[in-house]
Amino acid sequence: MLRSYQIAQFGQPLKPSEAPLPDPKGREVLVRVEHCGVCHSDIHIWDGYFDLGNGRKVVAANNGALLPLTPGHEIVGSVAAVGPAARTAQPGQRRLVFPWIGCGTCPPCRDGNEHICAGAQQAIGIFRDGGYATHVLVPDERYLVDYGSLDPLLASTYACSGLTAYSALKKIGRLADHHSLLIVGAGGVGLNGVALAKAVTGQAPIVADIDPTKREAALRLGARSVIDPREDGTLKALLKETGGVMAAVDFAGSGPSFEFAYGSLRKGGHLVSVGLLGGAATLSLGIHVMKALRVSGSYVGSLAELQELIALAQTTELPGLPITEKPLAQATEALQALKDGRVVGRIVLDA
Ligand SMILES: [Zn+2]
Ligand SMILES: [Zn+2]
Repeated sequence: MLRSYQIAQFGQPLKPSEAPLPDPKGREVLVRVEHCGVCHSDIHIWDGYFDLGNGRKVVAANNGALLPLTPGHEIVGSVAAVGPAARTAQPGQRRLVFPWIGCGTCPPCRDGNEHICAGAQQAIGIFRDGGYATHVLVPDERYLVDYGSLDPLLASTYACSGLTAYSALKKIGRLADHHSLLIVGAGGVGLNGVALAKAVTGQAPIVADIDPTKREAALRLGARSVIDPREDGTLKALLKETGGVMAAVDFAGSGPSFEFAYGSLRKGGHLVSVGLLGGAATLSLGIHVMKALRVSGSYVGSLAELQELIALAQTTELPGLPITEKPLAQATEALQALKDGRVVGRIVLDA
């Protein structure tokens, strides 16, 4: 039996459900879920919308047409069954699932960027059933990543929060010794960013968060210093201390967090915008041009980037973010705790 916890109605407690195990066809793989991380985007899907700012909203789960939907896209498990055309997947292999699956034929997909598919997206736990379940059907064996000897709990968080942080930091690239890096927002993704920053950019970050427990967690994961962006004079002090940061990553993604990160940049600086709290921000085009600033959006990451991140984690000692395990049956409570801002690091469900 495939047991799962599904969003049957937006905003309502997840509904336990049972169905016969699917039979994989072609190159499909049925994975027995061991762990599944609980991500902030699961809340948006549960709520039913993403806030685009200025009163505009984008609806989740194709406006409810996909309900009931099993959320969950940070999945580690073992191969339970493979389709007849599968070549490399074999029952018993323990694998991380790349969830950001696209249509395979649109221009971004043809570039190897299925995660920003412009066609019929198939992302696991977003557009098709995900990992808040005992089993998940993966559409092709090529989306399975061998995580080797990595801790499976940590590996699960690499499918979304780790990959999102890695892809954002990679857009910044290597920084010089005299450059400063600012990370805004130390939630699950932001803390993975703190953990990866030194290895990817060469710089330990300054971390801004409004929550003191998250600032403490950031210090434990290697932050150079931590600041409270809501305190009077914080931005001014940061500009004075650093002369403006060369790069900033906004893992919160609200109007105020974007404006704080953007306002911290020095001339020629680069802001990578990642968080999806939603909202809008204004920027002065004159300042933008004269300070020669750059703003990039970054949404999750590609299959190649997940493979790079796993290789990096296997060869480099990376600090692991705090993880709390909960049984799958507590999926609704886990979502609510995350929504209330009560989670430091990641909750991972054990199926
Ligand atoms: Zn996610
Ligand atoms: Zn596509």
